[in-house]
Amino acid sequence: CGIIGYIGERDAAEVLVDGLKRLEYRGYDSVGLVTEEGKLFIKKGAGKINELKEKLGLTNLPGRRGIGHTRWATHGIPNDINAHPHTDCSGKIAIVHNGIIENYIELREKLEGSGHEFKSDTDTEVIAHLIEEELKSSKLFEDALRRALLQLKGSFALGIIYTDDKEHLYFVRNESPLVLGVGNGEMFAASDIPAFLPYTNKVVFLDDGEYAVVGKDSFYVKDLKTGNIKDKKIHEINWTL
Ligand code: GLU
Repeated sequence: CGIIGYIGERDAAEVLVDGLKRLEYRGYDSVGLVTEEGKLFIKKGAGKINELKEKLGLTNLPGRRGIGHTRWATHGIPNDINAHPHTDCSGKIAIVHNGIIENYIELREKLEGSGHEFKSDTDTEVIAHLIEEELKSSKLFEDALRRALLQLKGSFALGIIYTDDKEHLYFVRNESPLVLGVGNGEMFAASDIPAFLPYTNKVVFLDDGEYAVVGKDSFYVKDLKTGNIKDKKIHEINWTL
């Protein structure tokens, strides 16, 4: 039940595992990470962070950008396959999700009809395949992402990484919490501020129906429905952990 994202110059896996530990209070049954270095690297499983850190070597993943997740299962039992991240068929898109996609059955049937093969029992996996499908009619990842997101019903905080877009991570908020952390040459995103507070106290609060395109030195936030840029304030947090 937590999301953390990082893009910058640090070892991403270290930052992600560290951030997930500070979100443990939210409760969870499974853990997973994705990082990118030329391709996506994923480690995930059912269990506790410290256990899986040892067993899977969560912090051994390479790369300077990535996304982490703790899952509180709603669709599909807690097991290694249903743990997030979830990927599309090409393995180039990975998604983490908190919340529930209410119309996932109808989306899944449609996508299976056009040849997509699903690996998990989650509602989340449809999102990865939906973006892959939309990428067929749009070269721009952001456009494909937006068109996919507009088809979703339900609650979702999302972190998305795409191999071919090396400079960015994508985050979405709709009825599940998500905040951005603005660092110096690095950016964070998380379900809650404590996840990245040791690294930065500059925070941008996403509102429902907004998505963020995040690079290490800059970011912008847009309205999901209109695609218009939103003017966001950077808040300074004056409490510590
Ligand atoms: N509905 C998703 C699942 O069951 C996400 C659950 C969560 O919020 O962690 O995998």
